[in-house]
Amino acid sequence: ILFQVNGHSPDSDVQSEESLREDLQEFLGREAPLHQLDDLTKVNPVTLETVLRCLQARYMADTFYTNAGCTLVALNPFKPVPQLYLPELMREYHAAPQPQKLKPHVFSVGEQTYRNVKSLIEPVNQSIVVSGESGAGKTWTSRCLMKFYAVVAASPTSWESHKIAERIEQRILNSNPVMEAFGNARTLRNNNSSRFGKFIQLQLNRAQQMTGAAVQTYLLEKTRVACQASSERNFHIFYQICKGASEDERLQWHLPKGAAFSWLPNPERTLEEDCFEVTREAMLHLGIDTPTQNNIFKVLAGLLHLGNIRFADSEDEAQPCQLMDNAKCSVRTSALLLQLPEDMLLETLRIRTIRAGRQQQVFRKPCSQTECDTRRDCVAKLVYARLFDWLVSVINSSICADPGSWTTFIGLLDVYGFESFPDNSLEQLCINYANEKLQQHFVAHYLRAQQEEYTVEGLEWSFVNYQDNQACLDLIEGSPISICALINEECRLNRPSSAAQLQTRIESALAGSPCLGHNKLSREPSFVVVHYAGPVRYHTAGLVEKNKDPVPLDLTILLQQSQDPLLMVLFPINPKEKTQEEPSGQSRAPVLTVVSKFKASLEQLLQVLHSTTPHYIRCIKPNSQGQAQTFLREEVLSQLEACGLVETVHISAAGFPIRVSHQNFVERYELLRRLHQALMGPISPSPERSPHSKEATLQPLLQDILHTLPALTQAAATPGDSDEA
Ligand code: ATP
Ligand code: MG
Repeated sequence: ILFQVNGHSPDSDVQSEESLREDLQEFLGREAPLHQLDDLTKVNPVTLETVLRCLQARYMADTFYTNAGCTLVALNPFKPVPQLYLPELMREYHAAPQPQKLKPHVFSVGEQTYRNVKSLIEPVNQSIVVSGESGAGKTWTSRCLMKFYAVVAASPTSWESHKIAERIEQRILNSNPVMEAFGNARTLRNNNSSRFGKFIQLQLNRAQQMTGAAVQTYLLEKTRVACQASSERNFHIFYQICKGASEDERLQWHLPKGAAFSWLPNPERTLEEDCFEVTREAMLHLGIDTPTQNNIFKVLAGLLHLGNIRFADSEDEAQPCQLMDNAKCSVRTSALLLQLPEDMLLETLRIRTIRAGRQQQVFRKPCSQTECDTRRDCVAKLVYARLFDWLVSVINSSICADPGSWTTFIGLLDVYGFESFPDNSLEQLCINYANEKLQQHFVAHYLRAQQEEYTVEGLEWSFVNYQDNQACLDLIEGSPISICALINEECRLNRPSSAAQLQTRIESALAGSPCLGHNKLSREPSFVVVHYAGPVRYHTAGLVEKNKDPVPLDLTILLQQSQDPLLMVLFPINPKEKTQEEPSGQSRAPVLTVVSKFKASLEQLLQVLHSTTPHYIRCIKPNSQGQAQTFLREEVLSQLEACGLVETVHISAAGFPIRVSHQNFVERYELLRRLHQALMGPISPSPERSPHSKEATLQPLLQDILHTLPALTQAAATPGDSDEA
C-alpha cells in the first residue's frame, strides 16, 4: 500500500503532518539497517539526505549496486571485486525464477532485459542506457553486460555457422579492446577514458542466441590526436605501438627506442591499457590481418612524425614559414610513412590555395606559423577520424549478423555524461544536449512506469510538482530560433562576427526562454543554459569555427595523392559519399555543421531508443581520486544531480514517497489494531467496499489508526492499563 505524506495528511485536524511523519519514521525506522535497503525508493522518506545516507552505508559495506525504482545505481568500487563478476554468478541470475528478487546487480538488469525480449508474444527490442560522469564506470558496466550476454545468450557450438571460424560472442567481445585502443585515452579523470560515444546493438535470433552486433559511434574527440591537455595523453594506440613494436617494426616505422614525439606526452607512466599484443590479437580475431594492421600502425607512426614538424614565421611575410631545427627530417619521415610526395606535403602545410571568382582562379598565400600549425593538426585529425570510422565499419562487417539471422536486439548505450567545466564549448554543448534528450526520454519512461504502478494499486495520482525539460530543449534545438539554429546561421552566413556579437545575438533572440541564465559574472563572452542537471556557462569564442570544422580542400587533395594502400581507401579520389569540405569561393552549398550532424545522429539514436523498452544504469564515482572505500558526499550529490537521480527522487516525492508492502503493513500495524480493538472494539470494514480488496480492509483501518493514534499513545503510556499495551 502506498500512501501520501508529503502532500497533506489525511486529516490535518487530527495530527500535524510533521508528527505523523515522525510516527511513521519511528515505525519504519525499525526496518532493516540502511545498507540493507536494496531500493532507494524504500528509504523513508525519499529525500536527498536519506538517499545519500543509504548509498554511503551500502558503499561502506562493499555493496556497490542499488536499485532506484526502474534505475540501477552502480557505485564504482575502485578496486577489483572479482567475486562480483564470476560466470557462476551470471548463471545464477540467469537461472533465477525472479532475478529482480536477487541482490541488485548489472546481471539482474541484463537478465530482466533479456527476458523482456523473450517473454512477450510480440518481441520487443530492449535498450540499456548507461550514464554517469567520466570515470564512473560506464564502459566497465557495458563490457560487463556484453560478457554476461556472451555467457547467457551464447549460441550452442553445434549451431555455429561454418563461415564463422570462431564463436561470434568472442568476436563481439574482441571489438572492445580495439575500439578502446583507438578511441580511449588517459585523462585527468580517468586513465581509460572513452573519447567517443557508443551504441552497440546485440542481435538475437528467435532462439534468443546472440548472432551478431552492430556498433554506432558518436563524436570522436579527434582534436586529441594533435593536442593533449597537460597530464593527459593521446589515444592509447600510439603508446602501444611505441612500447610494443618489435625491433624490425621499429625500423620500418621509424620509431627508435626513446624517440621523443610532441604528440606523445606522458609516455613514462605505463598503463594497463598499453598492451599492444592484446590489441593486435583482437584485431586479428576481427579479421584485420597482420599486413593491414602494419599498414595502420605505419600511418599512425607517420602522424607522430608529422606532429614533430615545427614552423617559424619567416621575416618576409610574402615567404612561406621556416622549418625549425629537425623539422626537415620529420617532414621527410612523415612523407615516407604516409607515402606522400615530400615537397607537396611541405608546400601544402605552408601555402594556402584559394579558388575564387567566376573562373575559380587559384591564389596561393603563404600561411603564418599559427596557420601552418593548424593545417598540420588538421591533416592529423582528418586522417585519424577517417581511420577510426573505417575501423568501426570493418568491425561492423566482421560482427554484424546477416539480416535474416536476427529478429530482436538489446542496445547498450555508453555515452559521455553531463559535463560542466570552468570553460565549456561546443563539445560540452553537444554532450549536454544529448544528455538533456536522454533525460527527457528517461523521465517520460519513468512517469509512465509510475503511472502503471499506481493504476495497479488503484491510486489516484498527479505529478503536480513536476516540470519537464522541454523548455531547455527548445532553447537548445528548437525551431526556428534556438542556440543551435543561431550558431548554424552564423556558419551559413560565413560573416566575420566576434564572440561578443554571438553572445548578444543569443541573448536577445532567446531572452524569453526560462532556461537562458543570466550572464553577469563572466568577463568573457558567454551564455548560460540552465540544464536539468544545473546551469552551465558556454563560452562563445571559437564556437562558430568549431561548428564549421572546416577541412581545407587542399589538405584533402594532398591526402588523395598518397600511394599508401590504407590512405588510398580513406581518401579516394572520386569519393562516392559527399564529404564535408570548405566551400570554395562563392559556392553556396549548404554547410553541414558539427551541430547539425550531431543533431541528426542523436535523433536517429532516439528513434531507435523510442522503439525499445529502456532500462537505465546510472554509474556514480564515489570520489575523484579513484580510491577504494572513500565516499565523498558532496561529489556524489553533484552526480546524483547530473544523472537525473535527484529528479527521480523529486518525481518520486511528487507521487507517493513512502511505500510499504501490504504484508509489512499488516505486520507492523497489527499491534495497533489489537490495541484499538482492546480499547474500542473491532473495526468494521465499510459495507460499500468489496471485502476482498486490500484497500477495503486497510483504508478504514488506516483512518481509524490515524484518528485514534493520540488516544492510543496516551493509553499505552499509562502503566498498567492494558496487557496489550
Ligand atoms: P569515461 O566517460 O571517461 O569513459 P567511464 O564511465 O567509461 O568513463 P570506466 O572506464 O568504465 O569509466 O571506469 C573507470 C575505471 O573505474 C575503470 O578503468 C576501472 O578501473 C574502475 N571500475 C569501474 N567500474 C568498476 C567495477 N565495477 N569494478 C572494479 N573497477 C571498476
Ligand atoms: Mg568510458
